[in-house]
Amino acid sequence: MQVLLADEYGFCFGVERAVDMVEEALNEGEVVRSLGPLIHNDQEMDRLARSGVATISEPVQIKRGETAVIRAHGVTPEVQKELETNATKVVDATCPFVTRVQRLASRAAAQGRNVVVVGNPEHPEMIGVKGYAPDHAFIIRDKSEVASLPPLTRPLVVSQTTIKVQTFLDTAEAVKAKTEDGVEVINTICSATKDRQEAARALAGMVDAFYIIGGRHSSNSVKLLGVCKEQCPKSFLIETVAEIDAQDLTGVNRVGVTAGASTPEWLIKEVVGYLEDLGRQIENELALEK
Ligand code: SF4
Repeated sequence: MQVLLADEYGFCFGVERAVDMVEEALNEGEVVRSLGPLIHNDQEMDRLARSGVATISEPVQIKRGETAVIRAHGVTPEVQKELETNATKVVDATCPFVTRVQRLASRAAAQGRNVVVVGNPEHPEMIGVKGYAPDHAFIIRDKSEVASLPPLTRPLVVSQTTIKVQTFLDTAEAVKAKTEDGVEVINTICSATKDRQEAARALAGMVDAFYIIGGRHSSNSVKLLGVCKEQCPKSFLIETVAEIDAQDLTGVNRVGVTAGASTPEWLIKEVVGYLEDLGRQIENELALEK
């Protein structure tokens, strides 16, 4: 049984960077507190917790002597200021792709323009971005919400980093149709999700079974499962090796593996190693039967 990894899988650039920054602070002996869960992966969160990283839900919970971590989604300038006031040190792990959206929103607002951000208004990334242009920005999910916007002044249209390109383009077109007042459109979608989906799709047609490693509450992992299932009905979303049922691999010659953007490399290696061992075991058994 051959085990094949998708060309793109696991930690995206922003998550890897955030985890590296936390590791660095731990190595310096700092008491690290993350505002909100650093990543959507229980196993990695457990590992970080064992290393001393605690999660707090409010900036007020941070104390002198502690290092506060801003995760990849970013926060509002007010929250950042509060953390800087309360903590001894702030590690800003906001993903640079998110920082770009924050800066664009802030600059447009300073020019007296409106900002239309296509995304989920409840998502932490969007709450943070809105904070950079509080009186000028509107967060809308898709084109259906454009009609409810007030008249716009030279609007800048940008996007949450993880939405679908088509949703963004359709919404930008609807904004253009609504106002003729100098609409500027800047696509700020990050390609990490799309790259992982395309790599999984390319591999799914070549394998007999597919394992997607990721949290059940990780939306990008659940989407990867859907993509794989389109071509490989024996696709499974698992969090750890413990969920692999050897029965599912009966008659399987090639098995694909991918992982969501919050799945750490050590967890992926465990699964790949387990599947390779299982493959060798099955081969040995078949040889004995002959
Ligand atoms: S998905 Fe993209 S924008 Fe979000 S943290 Fe990862 S690299 Fe950054």
